[in-house]
Amino acid sequence: MRDFSLDIYRTLLEALQAKGYRLISYADYLKGEERKATDEKLVILRHDVDARPQNSLKTAQIEHSLGAKATYYFRVGKESNDPQAIKAIAQLGHEIGYHYEDMSLCGGDVDQAWSHFQTWLDYFRQYYAVETICMHGAPTSRYDGKDLWKKYDYKTLGIIGEPYMDTDFSKVFYLTDTGRCWDGYKVSVRDKIPQYQDEWTAKGLVWHTTPQLLRAIEEGRLPQQVMITTHPQRWTNDSALWWKELVLQNCKNIIKKLWIRN
Ligand SMILES: [Zn+2]
Repeated sequence: MRDFSLDIYRTLLEALQAKGYRLISYADYLKGEERKATDEKLVILRHDVDARPQNSLKTAQIEHSLGAKATYYFRVGKESNDPQAIKAIAQLGHEIGYHYEDMSLCGGDVDQAWSHFQTWLDYFRQYYAVETICMHGAPTSRYDGKDLWKKYDYKTLGIIGEPYMDTDFSKVFYLTDTGRCWDGYKVSVRDKIPQYQDEWTAKGLVWHTTPQLLRAIEEGRLPQQVMITTHPQRWTNDSALWWKELVLQNCKNIIKKLWIRN
C-alpha cells in the first residue's frame, strides 16, 4: 500500500479506532469533558484544506463511513474555497472552519486584516455555523497570522477556539503531515509546537512514514490524546497527483524553498 494514499489513510483511522481512540472534531474536543480527562483516548482530526478541495471530499467520505468526525479548515482563495465541496463535507456531519491568512493577504496591516477576517468569517458562515478557526502557516509568508490576536479577540465573534492558541499541548500530542512525512516539523517554521516538541522527540514519538506510525499505534506507543493535522491534497489514489506531491512536497524541497527565501 502506497504511503499518502486514501487507502492508507483509511487504514490509519481504522487502526486508531481498533485501539479505542475516538475520532472527533476540534469544536467537539473544545466543548467536551475529554479536554479535562486525559485518560480518555481521542484523536482530533484536523484538515487544512490548502488546495484541491475535492480531495478533502474523499477523506471526508472515508471518515463518515467509519463514524468519525473531523474539522476541515478552508482558505479564501479559489485553490481552496469551493462552496460545493464545503457544503458536501458539512452535509457528511463534519465541522467547517476558517483557515485564515488575513495578515498575509493584508500586507501585515492589522486593522485591515481584522476587517478582512470578519468579512470572510461571515462568508464561511453562509455554509456552516463556524465555531473554530486555524491559522494557515505558509512557510513563505513574512507574516505570522497569529499576530492579529495581539490586538483583536476572535472570541468576540463567537469563535470558541484556534488550535495553536487554545489546545493544551501538555496533554495533546501533535502530529502533522507537513513536508509529506510525519516528522516534517523539523523543516516547518510555523506548523510546530515549540515548547513540547523537544519533550516528544526525547520520548521517541517521532515517525517518518505512515507504516512506522501504524506500527507505533499497534504497539500502544501513541499518547492517549492526539491532534492529527493532514493536508488532504496530499492523500490520493490518483497516480499522477501522488507523484506530483512526492516530487514537490517532500522535506528536502521544502528546505530548499526556505533557503531560497531567506
Ligand atoms: Zn494551510
